[in-house]
Amino acid sequence: LTEPSGGSDPARAIQTRGIKDGSEWILSGSKLYISGADKADYALIFARTSDDPGRNGVTAFIVDTDTPGFHVRRVVHTLRATHYATELQFDEMRVPEENILGEVNGGFAIANDRLSRQRIPYAAGCIGPAIRAQEMSIDWAKSRETFGSPLAEKQAIQWMVVDNEIDIRHARYCVLEAAQKADSREPFRTEAAMAKLVATEASSRVIDRCIQIHGGVGVTKDLPLERWYRELRIRRVGEGPSEVQRLIMARDILGGSFK
Ligand SMILES: Cc1cc2nc3c(=O)[nH]c(=O)nc-3n(C[C@H](O)[C@H](O)[C@H](O)COP(=O)(O)OP(=O)(O)OC[C@H]3O[C@@H](n4cnc5c(N)ncnc54)[C@H](O)[C@@H]3O)c2cc1C
Repeated sequence: LTEPSGGSDPARAIQTRGIKDGSEWILSGSKLYISGADKADYALIFARTSDDPGRNGVTAFIVDTDTPGFHVRRVVHTLRATHYATELQFDEMRVPEENILGEVNGGFAIANDRLSRQRIPYAAGCIGPAIRAQEMSIDWAKSRETFGSPLAEKQAIQWMVVDNEIDIRHARYCVLEAAQKADSREPFRTEAAMAKLVATEASSRVIDRCIQIHGGVGVTKDLPLERWYRELRIRRVGEGPSEVQRLIMARDILGGSFK
């Protein structure tokens, strides 16, 4: 989905072009930050197939990555040690008409549906490290002593542990509410955006406090805290930045006319 022209507003940003040629479509353009594309057998590529500059001009194509013209330009390294992203280029790739997913110019609805659904497990995946980091911090605070008493007896540390618990439970309730609505086929776009926003930001705060409670060892690679800190920083951008989640919720809360 994402291109060098931007990922927050893909409906307007997509410049990869699809032109019909007999029973085939010719795709040309580029994509950026596409996770694991160098190992994928197939790609789902969203391309502009009409002059409509927005969501009504985008089509989803299922593309075999062996197709001539499909190039992985480079691996894009990030804060993460693994799960890297890639930059892709498409040079006049010929894709059969039957590889269109859904309708011609109806691809953006597919992207939107997938993005909304994906936000729920993406949010849930942030809570696990936060829970584990909190457990580690409680154990550490009870056993580590400074100024003649355990850290757990100091109010500054107690409040960090409590704030962690509030953040973890808040994130968990938001994720469960979104998942429950999605499971029961109720509208869940606002809840999924809220879960993504709350879980990524709350879990980031938790890991940050846990590093503080651990002191020096918290920033070393002897513990997983620094890795979780880096991973969660990415998650406030990936799958739609926090600002875009707020924008989605604002549209739903204020009504469609406030775009
Ligand atoms: C590790 C990683 C893996 C990724 N994997 C994939 C993938 O597999 N497939 C894929 O399609 N994409 C993927 N992405 C792309 C990701 O979804 C985009 O980075 C994200 O949507 C933001 O797009 P952008 O980077 O172009 O930022 P831009 O759209 O340029 O936005 C920049 C910043 O502007 C702010 N902003 C944007 N809009 C608004 C607004 N309306 N109001 C206020 N502030 C705003 C936000 O803070 C945002 O971070 C991945 C990204 C990363 C980092």
